[in-house]
Amino acid sequence: MENWVRSKKGKYHLYCLIWYPNYVPRYSLTLWLAALGRLSTTDRPHMQDITANRQCVLCDLEPESHKHIFFSCPYSATVWSNLTTQSQLHWPRLNWPNLLHWAGLKFKGRKGYTNLIAKHTLATTIYFIWTERNNRIFQHKFKQAGLLSNDIASQIRILLLNFQGQIPEIARIRWNV
Ligand SMILES: [Zn+2]
Repeated sequence: MENWVRSKKGKYHLYCLIWYPNYVPRYSLTLWLAALGRLSTTDRPHMQDITANRQCVLCDLEPESHKHIFFSCPYSATVWSNLTTQSQLHWPRLNWPNLLHWAGLKFKGRKGYTNLIAKHTLATTIYFIWTERNNRIFQHKFKQAGLLSNDIASQIRILLLNFQGQIPEIARIRWNV
């Protein structure tokens, strides 16, 4: 993954996935840092002394890492399942680096509803999962996966209301836009 991100092609596809028309800066910044493995999870070398290999606060089943927290984690997997059903997207079961690689190639186009909903779903979900993780650690606030999924869907709906392009009728009904 790191080599892929560093390569010219990898960077191009990653940029297309993260910085696109109608992107939300704080969502995309979180996704960018997550893609680079730069968030302050315990798999970062300088964090290991501080956090002493903390367990994932979302599931309390495995040590926290970039690879675990966004897709492999059972909590996140439930959120993803809810959102991809709502977005009618098929996301393959891949680990975090390979999934980003796949999505970067699949949704590299800048226009069109399918590319937009895929990018909104990815960036918004990553941001909310990361925020939930931080809320649990720093504020001791916990939200169930179903409720977090509803919050994410509400945000995506607001983003869709600002989309100038054509949204298929079936998607308009599903998102109530
Ligand atoms: Zn977990």
